[in-house]
Amino acid sequence: MHDFEFKGGDLYCEEVPLRRIAKEVGTPVYVYSRRTLRDHYRRLDEAFSSLPHFICYSVKANSNLAVLATLAAEGAGADIVSGGELYRALKAGMSPDKVVYAGIGKTREEMDYALRSGILMFNVESELEMEALDGVAGELGTKAPVALRVNPDVDPETHPYIATGLREAKFGIGIEEAVEAYRRAAALGNLEVVGVHQHIGSQITHVEPFRESISRVGELVEKLQSLGIGIRYINIGGGFGIPYRGEEVPYPRDYALALEPILRRSGCTVILETGRMIVGNAGVLLTRVLYRKRTGEKRFLVVDAAMNDLIRPSLYGSFHEIVPVEKRDRQGEKVDVVGPVCESGDFLARDREMPALEPGELLAVMSAGAYSFTMSSNYNSRRRAAEVMVDGGRFEVVRERESYDDLVRGERIMA
Ligand SMILES: *Cc1c(COP(=O)(O)O)cnc(C)c1O
Repeated sequence: MHDFEFKGGDLYCEEVPLRRIAKEVGTPVYVYSRRTLRDHYRRLDEAFSSLPHFICYSVKANSNLAVLATLAAEGAGADIVSGGELYRALKAGMSPDKVVYAGIGKTREEMDYALRSGILMFNVESELEMEALDGVAGELGTKAPVALRVNPDVDPETHPYIATGLREAKFGIGIEEAVEAYRRAAALGNLEVVGVHQHIGSQITHVEPFRESISRVGELVEKLQSLGIGIRYINIGGGFGIPYRGEEVPYPRDYALALEPILRRSGCTVILETGRMIVGNAGVLLTRVLYRKRTGEKRFLVVDAAMNDLIRPSLYGSFHEIVPVEKRDRQGEKVDVVGPVCESGDFLARDREMPALEPGELLAVMSAGAYSFTMSSNYNSRRRAAEVMVDGGRFEVVRERESYDDLVRGERIMA
């Protein structure tokens, strides 16, 4: 996270001290580095430059308009999973002809919206969805471009909640049934088959599961092409993992090197749907210590951010590094870092060796750019945090902290 560094004892995002952001905007607050976003995008793009390709940034990782607009300016398209994400992508200036739409439960209304918007393709996940899309396209008098999402039955060796390419997963069409499914899709008059899609999971930290699944997808593409089904795009999905605690993970070029021979042979344009690798280490969550407390043998640091702001530790048992924003000499201690929410599962860290902190001090929860704000909620009627984007020496609030009025917007007391 080289755009988040200590300078003279203070943690900075680019040229802005995080302390200043906390003082002016309050806490909890998410802070994103624009330079990191661009840098990560460019490195990924560069790694695949020997192949015809483009990157559809996975909007669900972080869907703030400022993040989307920054990536759109770099040439990114969008990987979306709902009508709401399509709305955001278009609003941020992403070009519809670089939008791909996945998800097992697209409604007819969402299909209609996406067709009218002119997206590049739908990643279709079942035969009934195929028929529904054919129907909606027919009503609009248009053809829906489709890829079928195939499930290559590969173990990505990640957390079970984010493994999506095993046979028993709810996603995609089993690869052994794929040829038959493609035949049916090709026979539907309002669909145009253009590609094949896979997405085997997230936070994958080895090249091997990708090599294995892409080689299965490559074989499928050859078979389809020999049957006269014109596949022009291979969408390899997302899933490239990032370091959360300094662990070694493959670089973009490692993936590119491993996959290039298979992808090149197919003659297809390659689509990447990367989320976490672009944005995960481009953001932190700033929180302030409220209280220290002890129960029995346990020590707790109560902070003003909670599971409603960042649910990854509670949901997946994820590790996020947590560092004091001001470096000082302190004693060490072992603590649970917990929020104010009324759940024992509300923690940001457990049994963590930390420098001893006092109430009022600031902490940065690192690697909080992906699946962090986007998974936040209003549980306990907590207002969702502000979001800030830093660019060099300046910063802007790119999402205001919610107000109490925001909390009850749209609600009514029944007469
Ligand atoms: C979530 C998701 C992605 C992005 O995964 P990352 O691990 O963030 O790269 C890509 N494609 C699909 C279909 C997804 O559901």
